[in-house]
Amino acid sequence: MGCSLAYHLARGGRKVVVIDRGKIGQGATAACAGGIRAQFSTEVNIRIGMEAKRVLANFVGETGQSADFRQVGYLFLLTTDEERQRFADNVRLQRRLGLEDVVELAPAEARAMVPGLRTDDLSGATFCPSDGLAGPNEVTYGYANAARRLGAVILEDTPLDGFLTAGGSVRGIKTAASEIACADTVICAGPWSAPVGAMLGLTLPIEPSRRQVFVSEGFAGIGRRSPMTIDFHTSFYFHPEGEGVLFGMSDPATPPGDDTSVDWSFLDRITAVAERRWPPLLDARVKSAWAGLYENTPDFQPLIGPLQPGLWIAAGFSGHGFMMAPVIGRWLASWMTGTAPTADLGAFAPDRFATGTLQPERNVV
Ligand SMILES: Cc1cc2nc3c(=O)[nH]c(=O)nc-3n(C[C@H](O)[C@H](O)[C@H](O)COP(=O)(O)OP(=O)(O)OC[C@H]3O[C@@H](n4cnc5c(N)ncnc54)[C@H](O)[C@@H]3O)c2cc1C
Repeated sequence: MGCSLAYHLARGGRKVVVIDRGKIGQGATAACAGGIRAQFSTEVNIRIGMEAKRVLANFVGETGQSADFRQVGYLFLLTTDEERQRFADNVRLQRRLGLEDVVELAPAEARAMVPGLRTDDLSGATFCPSDGLAGPNEVTYGYANAARRLGAVILEDTPLDGFLTAGGSVRGIKTAASEIACADTVICAGPWSAPVGAMLGLTLPIEPSRRQVFVSEGFAGIGRRSPMTIDFHTSFYFHPEGEGVLFGMSDPATPPGDDTSVDWSFLDRITAVAERRWPPLLDARVKSAWAGLYENTPDFQPLIGPLQPGLWIAAGFSGHGFMMAPVIGRWLASWMTGTAPTADLGAFAPDRFATGTLQPERNVV
């Protein structure tokens, strides 16, 4: 998010400094599954997903680097009638907003797409072939390098020490080495944004939550063009990754926190779900695993906009920040340079939990 915003601000003629306490792209973004989709339940997120696909399809032209964007599609598997009804409503809204290639599928049609899928208990499915996967590293460095070429400075291994303030405004930041005065400061600290806000006495409703990902050795049981497949009821998902398969599932029993150790016993719980939904996975040999942090808000929508004079935020993406960053970086940069945001970002207002106007995102995996 920080690199996308830096690129778009620099393109608009602003002088930009990004500070990262580690290396760029090594936070939540490094753990990301790379999914890009427009199959959301809220209008704003559908619009962002559609725009993200357009941006990523033209990423080389814009930044000179490949985004490794593979439009293999997203297949949502639905179990209950309520889920099927809800996703049918979503498809109607998505099509009305111009997402023309999204369709509802019968369980048998989903089975035909993913060999080995068990669909006897499904109520339906939805599929959008232009959704897909992109490379988190490629996109982060694409923006970072393009931003540098436009004059942006990226300081790595530079933790934030605090903010410069005067008269109720934020006037810049402090690091161990220097003080950087600036007209606008943006918190883009991913799952660690709440502790950054706390340096100013702010309570930001962003909670880190561990998600684990497993990757297999070369595995012939999945086609290289197989879609990102999500069993919505359990949140078990899988997609082709290199010569193998990448898979994961959320764990409602995991308490919020910033633990990123891998709990190998969780693999047994995923395997139990896979046995019912996609038994071929049981033949794959797991070669690696990692854990990263979601940055959840109470309504699974990000906080985007001004927090106080001189201070902005773009964080709390609740598991969708990779696909949102190309678009939010552009829209927020225009907003910060005086143009109204292209879309209504009211659903993301940082103060919405106090004002009570919420538009929760329901298609969260
Ligand atoms: C397992 C997993 C799978 C995911 N899958 C997807 C997916 O398929 N599609 C999708 O769109 N999203 C996905 N996400 C979510 C996505 O990864 C995040 O929403 C996104 O990467 C957030 O980007 P960011 O730049 O806001 O945060 P980050 O990438 O975390 O960047 C924040 C940066 O802030 C720095 N920082 C933190 N504190 C400080 C400080 N005090 N001083 C200086 N620097 C600091 C960190 O070092 C870090 O580099 C997934 C997340 C996980 C964990």
